[in-house]
Amino acid sequence: MRLADDPRWQRLNNPHFQCPCCGERHAGLFDIAFDHPDPFAMPEGGVQFNSALPATTGDILTEDFARFGEHRFVRAVLPMTLAGTGPGPDLVQFSFGVWATLAPENFDAMVEAFDSRDQSHLGPYFSWLMNKLPGASNTPPKCTMYPQKDGQRPVLLLEDDTHPFYAAQDSAITLDEVLDLYALIGHDIRPHLLDG
Ligand SMILES: [Zn+2]
Repeated sequence: MRLADDPRWQRLNNPHFQCPCCGERHAGLFDIAFDHPDPFAMPEGGVQFNSALPATTGDILTEDFARFGEHRFVRAVLPMTLAGTGPGPDLVQFSFGVWATLAPENFDAMVEAFDSRDQSHLGPYFSWLMNKLPGASNTPPKCTMYPQKDGQRPVLLLEDDTHPFYAAQDSAITLDEVLDLYALIGHDIRPHLLDG
């Protein structure tokens, strides 16, 4: 069946369909985001504004950056093409919102360029993915980070072909796989896309 003919896909994209799992009107796919790099415990003060970064010297977690001891992390997206969409304007992506490492000098360059909303003249950078995706081992996979323009978060591409999402990122992820991931995070929308 073509994706466009899949009644589950039609329902998920219906702007009037209210998700019974969370009450939102998703109107399409939503990303799965991690709040902080796995080795970084959520600090007591929670997530700070990016503007707090230059003013502090110790460990800090902001909306887009984290500094933890000697380590530097940036919030990035790890996108995959939804099978049956694209190329071109009908491309749909599913992404994990993740945290990934940067060398301190590259981190500083990203921070410096942040306010201009254009980081596309930077990188690509060597990076380690610092969130364990479903089914992955505890060893952080090797990645390349591609800074973006228009205020978009940097794009992270997996370089480790043994990672469970390498193939999906290299080709595509199916709707069923995305729905299984939603169920895995306690958001099992699958039965609701078929009934009624
Ligand atoms: Zn929902």
